[in-house]
Amino acid sequence: MNARRPFMDSGFRIEIDRTVCDAYGTCAELLPELITLDEWGYPIIAAGNIPEPLLNHARQAVESCPIVALRLAKVPTPQAETRPDRQTGVPPWPPRPPQQTPRKSMPRKR
Ligand code: SF4
Repeated sequence: MNARRPFMDSGFRIEIDRTVCDAYGTCAELLPELITLDEWGYPIIAAGNIPEPLLNHARQAVESCPIVALRLAKVPTPQAETRPDRQTGVPPWPPRPPQQTPRKSMPRKR
C-alpha cells in the first residue's frame, strides 16, 4: 500500500468526454454518490478520486454509459521529492541509510 495516498482512496477518478455525452443520466442513477445531473441532464462528477468502497459502482457506471463517454483514469501517485537538499546540495536519491545511534548499555549489577 502506498503511504502517500489517503486511506480509502482507490487511485482512480472518473473522466468524461463532454463532447459525446448525450445526457441519458444512466451514470448518475448508478453512482449517485459521485455523479449528479445538472438542469439539462448532463453529469456533474464530484472532484477528487473515487473512494475505494465505491470503485465497483464506478466501474458499473462507466460500463453502463451507452455511448462510452465515461472512463476510469488511474491517477498517478505523487512523485518522490527530487530536489536536492537546500543546505547540503545532496539529492534525496538514492536514500541514505538511517543513522544509527549507539545503544546505551545498561549498568551491570554487581
Ligand atoms: S451515462 Fe454517459 S451519456 Fe449518459 S449522462 Fe452519463 S456520461 Fe452522459
